[in-house]
Amino acid sequence: MKKTKDKQDSSTMLEKLYSIGQASEKLKLSAPTLRMYEHHGVLIPYKTKSGRRYYSAADLERVKCMRHMIKDVGLNLEGIRRLFALLPCWEIKPCSKKDRRKCPVYLDSSKPCWTFKKVTCRKDSMECKTCKIYLMSSTCTDRLKTILQGIGYLPSDSPGL
Ligand code: SF4
Repeated sequence: MKKTKDKQDSSTMLEKLYSIGQASEKLKLSAPTLRMYEHHGVLIPYKTKSGRRYYSAADLERVKCMRHMIKDVGLNLEGIRRLFALLPCWEIKPCSKKDRRKCPVYLDSSKPCWTFKKVTCRKDSMECKTCKIYLMSSTCTDRLKTILQGIGYLPSDSPGL
């Protein structure tokens, strides 16, 4: 019973969630690998108060995308993290010029916005899980130019789109 309550605490969404064992099996990856992705700030699992991790179908797709970037494109986790960090969340949200001047994300482009401890746009990291910036990053490594073009960051005739 506690397990069910814990699981509900971790998400208000009525979506199927997978334990770390189930997610590992589906992805054919070890549980430590999933924890390592989290540690590197490229994956945010749902977490219960007792620390149990759960993964949504979107999380599994995100991991598959990252595996593709690692195995087929040759990126490492730091490279993926740096690509995620290029997403200009302040433009996409968008934040005022005044807010962005004091935002650590705006001032440091070495890591994705959801890995920063103190930002004004969220109370805790779980909010990032449903934020369009985080969701966008699930595919941004393949579509970064298209995303940047869509928000007017790149001219529409940029090569390679
Ligand atoms: S809510 Fe989280 S993912 Fe969204 S812009 Fe803020 S820090 Fe980034």
